[in-house]
Amino acid sequence: MEHRFDHLIIGAGMAGSAAAVALREAAAGASIALLGDEAHPPYDRPPLSKALWKDGKEEDIWRPIAKAGATLQPGRRALSIDRAAHLVRDDAGDTWRYGKLLIATGGTPRRLPFGADIVYLRTLDDYHRLRRSVRSGARMAVIGGGFIGSEIAAALALNGCRVTMLFPEATIGARAFPKALAESVTAYYREKGVDVRAGVTVKGAAGAALELSDGSTLQADAVVAGLGITPNVELAQAAGLEVDNGIVVDAHLRSSDPDIHAAGDVASFPAAALGRRLRVEHENAAVTMGERAGRCMAGQDAPYDELPYFYSDLFDLGYEAVGTLDARLETVEQWVTPYREGVVYYLEGARVRGALLWNTWDQVGAARALIADPGPFDARSVRGRLPAA
Ligand SMILES: Cc1cc2nc3c(=O)[nH]c(=O)nc-3n(C[C@H](O)[C@H](O)[C@H](O)COP(=O)(O)OP(=O)(O)OC[C@H]3O[C@@H](n4cnc5c(N)ncnc54)[C@H](O)[C@@H]3O)c2cc1C
Repeated sequence: MEHRFDHLIIGAGMAGSAAAVALREAAAGASIALLGDEAHPPYDRPPLSKALWKDGKEEDIWRPIAKAGATLQPGRRALSIDRAAHLVRDDAGDTWRYGKLLIATGGTPRRLPFGADIVYLRTLDDYHRLRRSVRSGARMAVIGGGFIGSEIAAALALNGCRVTMLFPEATIGARAFPKALAESVTAYYREKGVDVRAGVTVKGAAGAALELSDGSTLQADAVVAGLGITPNVELAQAAGLEVDNGIVVDAHLRSSDPDIHAAGDVASFPAAALGRRLRVEHENAAVTMGERAGRCMAGQDAPYDELPYFYSDLFDLGYEAVGTLDARLETVEQWVTPYREGVVYYLEGARVRGALLWNTWDQVGAARALIADPGPFDARSVRGRLPAA
């Protein structure tokens, strides 16, 4: 069957749904379709490792896609893009002709190189699968000490599970936080009853037992992993679009083909404030990029020109962050209460490259302005630039 739309969106996720709504606002009479390979309509992913484990209210996660007045085709995977014909083929044999196309295909979780019954937490179905194993006293192994691993470990512990965390680094959040903060977070997890096994990786699995790099075996009722994602660039690559750690887009989220845009986790965009390209895996970037891409597809001048921020909740600790959080940069810590409330600045080449707002709220705008400020800054002059002195 052949379909024809002014605007076609591949990927009915956070960026895709934001784009559909923005398109409708900018182009009242246009026809819009979304192809999504999940069985569900678009939903928020962050609650899968946070809010759903606190209140379990699934009715709150759905994106407001009805506003878009779009044709939503769930359970359908786009297989190829014929740029010359302006046509997408899907896995049911249908073809979709488009005027403008948005690729918002997100990413695929990295997997361990051996088969095992592991939940790689990315989708609502993954969440449901994990949820079925959760009961008081269940033994849960969490692989990965980054954002997803640390969030889901806290969520499972709060649900009465006996949680063991396994990761190769020395601490939780080692790649993002300065050493003392990362050590404090790790100690906090241990206080909360999580068995944190730093410097330990998984070598294999035999049934419900994980074989660990320290020679021990871990018996678990369920295993969940957060090992990062790789961007879903295959469609773009096969269609000959420029790809470099993500689909390369300009400030208007246009790919190397002016009729194809990209947004969200899959897009590599120019971050003017940092003077380089970024590809990030965060809600704020996905939703804002989606919204701007929709407007640009409708012919508006709506560049994506802001630095994204992200947030996380770890037990009762929470933070927002802007820019580059790389523990290898020079870090300047400014605490109101050590490791409970304060700001961490990340410096490189006399510029502020990132800001971590630890239990410090309403400072995202100020942090963005500071990162855009050419400086020069050093450890002394940056102190006090954001509140929490
Ligand atoms: C558990 C979890 C917790 C998170 N927590 C936070 C957080 O606290 N803070 C934060 O800032 N960010 C968080 N994120 C990240 C955030 O959710 C993502 O950055 C965001 O979802 C990216 O949006 P997207 O539209 O680019 O991709 P997605 O939301 O992943 O949507 C992409 C969609 O495209 C579909 N798709 C892929 N290929 C095809 C194809 N060929 N045909 C059709 N459909 C296709 C995918 O199945 C998916 O449904 C979290 C993510 C997860 C998984």
